[in-house]
Amino acid sequence: MEILETVGEMQARAEELRLSGKKVSVVPTMGALHEGHASLVAAARAASDVVILTVFVNPMQFGPDEDFQRYPRDFTGDKKIARSAGVDIFFAPQVSEMYPDGFLTSIVTDEVAQTFEGKIRPGHFRGVTTVVGKLFHMTKPHIAVFGQKDAQQVFIIQKMVRDLNFDMRIIVAPIVREPNGLARSSRNKYLSEEARGSAASIYKSLMQAAELIGKGERSVEKVRETVRRTLEAASPSQIDYVAVIDPSTFRETGALSGHAVLVAVAARFEETRLIDNIMIPLS
Ligand code: AMP
Repeated sequence: MEILETVGEMQARAEELRLSGKKVSVVPTMGALHEGHASLVAAARAASDVVILTVFVNPMQFGPDEDFQRYPRDFTGDKKIARSAGVDIFFAPQVSEMYPDGFLTSIVTDEVAQTFEGKIRPGHFRGVTTVVGKLFHMTKPHIAVFGQKDAQQVFIIQKMVRDLNFDMRIIVAPIVREPNGLARSSRNKYLSEEARGSAASIYKSLMQAAELIGKGERSVEKVRETVRRTLEAASPSQIDYVAVIDPSTFRETGALSGHAVLVAVAARFEETRLIDNIMIPLS
């Protein structure tokens, strides 16, 4: 596995790969790698000749009161996981090179970046789209792989790619979970053993929504209430939202119609904010 740390090196290598006719994929991450990330690498491996994994804890997507400083960083562990997952190039740029003094330009996706995650974390998606756009220019990929775990991020990046004519394809990989159903996340490290148990209620509540809709329930209100009740029974410190979303617009839907519906949850257990979702077919 090649390890690159400067933008210049990465761009030169990406250019070489393009010229040699290799199909290149990129998997952008913030490190603290886990099986969720490894599954993205596997999807990238299956679709391309060369897999680039980026590790960058992006200050621009953290709010002033968020966990940028204490976000888990483990380069040694990350390199080991990346190597065994089949990464070819491990790219970990420095903050000072990504955002030099005088940095002024950003990418903003309107409207959808202000809802759900964007409403609770103002500026978050501006940080995400800006860094992902920069990483695409550095790695020049044909394919980028993102996780369905961050459903709104996937929607926004797909929009950015279309709107700004990035000449590439996005692959979305399914959510990888712990044995109790909790979606794997670098932030799960913050949870106590007890909270890890309680937080499994998030997946349980989403499965209940799927079961209810599968049995024919078509009231958005009833679905939302069921999810909320199950979450509340596990005593989260806060529920940020329980939303029933039209996946084609990423807007809250008033009716369970169309091909599928996305039920998304954001809740805090102890100090840790967790998100999860499920796509439920309607036919
Ligand atoms: P992060 O390092 O948390 O910013 O995530 C990097 C990428 O991994 C994003 O595309 C995430 O959606 C994806 N990811 C994180 N957790 C999971 C998971 N449990 N299952 C699948 N993909 C994930």
